[in-house]
Amino acid sequence: KLIVFEGVEGCGKTTQIEQTRQWLEDLAISVAVTRQPGGTQLGQELRQILLHSQGYSIDPKAELLLYAADRAQHLAEVIKPELEKGTIVLCDRYTDSTIAYQGYGRGLDLAAIETLNRLATGGLEPYLTLWLDIDVEIGLNRVKVRGESDRLEQDTIDFHRLVQQGYQKLALHHPQIIHRVDASLSLEAVQLQIRSLLASHLNL
Ligand code: C5P
Ligand code: MG
Repeated sequence: KLIVFEGVEGCGKTTQIEQTRQWLEDLAISVAVTRQPGGTQLGQELRQILLHSQGYSIDPKAELLLYAADRAQHLAEVIKPELEKGTIVLCDRYTDSTIAYQGYGRGLDLAAIETLNRLATGGLEPYLTLWLDIDVEIGLNRVKVRGESDRLEQDTIDFHRLVQQGYQKLALHHPQIIHRVDASLSLEAVQLQIRSLLASHLNL
């Protein structure tokens, strides 16, 4: 089963995924952690280009296609093989990131993005998506404190607000798959919400 973690900058996905992995492993469940972009060797090279390229800016449509390329490779090389083995795959970002960032954030055509997402994934939907919802300013501040904010300064606060609105709309339209987690609470409280959602949806 594919479990996706989504949310704006600084929502705590990486930390929560790691704690979730440990919890599932302690329950003797076979689990794999991966991410988009960057879950394959090609994906790592694309991630480097997408997040750390210097001396030029990437056209929004080119950016969209690079995320799609990362995703297609990731499905073929990691996600599908792992799911076939029966592994629970915890994925840091998936198709909803592209709808939120490139669609709502950059304003690219949502129908075209959905077509591209379907092409890249072969229509594979998450079993469950955990949306770590946090106020945009609080999230960006957390990232600043970690000293990872250089790249993010290229985007305005309004861009991040649009991304956030994208997640809100997605959650509204897909209540069966997307579950909101209040990510403004302590690490422990956020992890408890995640465990309780997984326990009920995976019958643990
Ligand atoms: O959360 P993570 O460190 O994986 O995010 C990497 C960066 O990629 C984020 O800062 C996010 O802004 C960006 N991103 C994006 N569009 C996507 C996925 C990620 O702009 N579809
Ligand atoms: Mg992260």
